[in-house]
Amino acid sequence: MLVDFHTHTTGSDGTYTPNTLLNLAKNRKIEILSITDHDCLDGIKSIENIPPEILFVPGIEISAEFPKTLHILGYKINIDDYELNNTLKMLQEYRKSRNYMMIEKMQKFGFNISINELVEEAKGELIGRPHFANLMVKKGYVKTYQEAFDKYLKKGGPLYLDKKRLEPEKAIELIHNAGGVAILAHPYQTGLEGENLEKLVKKLKSHGLDGIEVYYSKHTPRMIEEYETLAKKFDLLITAGSDFHGKNKPDIELGMEINFKEIKDFIFKLL
Ligand code: AMP
Ligand code: ZN
Ligand code: FE
Ligand code: FE
Repeated sequence: MLVDFHTHTTGSDGTYTPNTLLNLAKNRKIEILSITDHDCLDGIKSIENIPPEILFVPGIEISAEFPKTLHILGYKINIDDYELNNTLKMLQEYRKSRNYMMIEKMQKFGFNISINELVEEAKGELIGRPHFANLMVKKGYVKTYQEAFDKYLKKGGPLYLDKKRLEPEKAIELIHNAGGVAILAHPYQTGLEGENLEKLVKKLKSHGLDGIEVYYSKHTPRMIEEYETLAKKFDLLITAGSDFHGKNKPDIELGMEINFKEIKDFIFKLL
């Protein structure tokens, strides 16, 4: 079956609006779709109508505090949950002040980027490093988007500023309190494998983690095998997502072809 439990819209750093994405999913004959914008529910709240062919699952991708990258996906959340909305608002406000601090930092490098240019570049998306990178290319400060990250914007780079993130256990708790299911996204991005990854999964499970995104557009067969073994060992659900961002990540296509039996426990949990 064709599903996608991990997509981004203009509600965060994707290029399609939620309504356009739903139509795209319908045309591709995707049966179940979840929108999982970064730390934001505004995209989902702007949905006007859901094509009857699609089972739509409201989602979120929360960036948690971690040395490398730790993203927790939440599904079937109540999008009006008070605590969840309040916490996301706090994170978004922090992001806004981070953007101003990044503009100041940029000026010290002779890179002149204004908030108006960022707003224009982001076209309603949550402003973040990708928009800084695009403007740095447009203004000739770097040759490519990737050069902007590699030289300046990557974590630890001279123009990088940390974001405020939730502790992983807090992210899981927030998702559960909003009635949702908490899934560890793209495990390889933690930078861990083998025993170290197992330790992390064990710890997250002890805090209530419900599952692992075993199938992901960038996972190799070896990774899939490792994550599936971990999921089975810790009695965790298995999910599948592409991390579609539209034209911002042109190499990622919408939709994951997956055997129903691989993800059936997760699907049943959503119904
Ligand atoms: P921000 O939320 O502002 O910290 O930006 C995060 C986004 O920046 C991610 O979703 C990626 O799209 C992009 N990004 C982060 N690190 C890199 C990197 N090393 N190379 C290219 N893009 C990156
Ligand atoms: Zn993203
Ligand atoms: Fe992610
Ligand atoms: Fe994502």
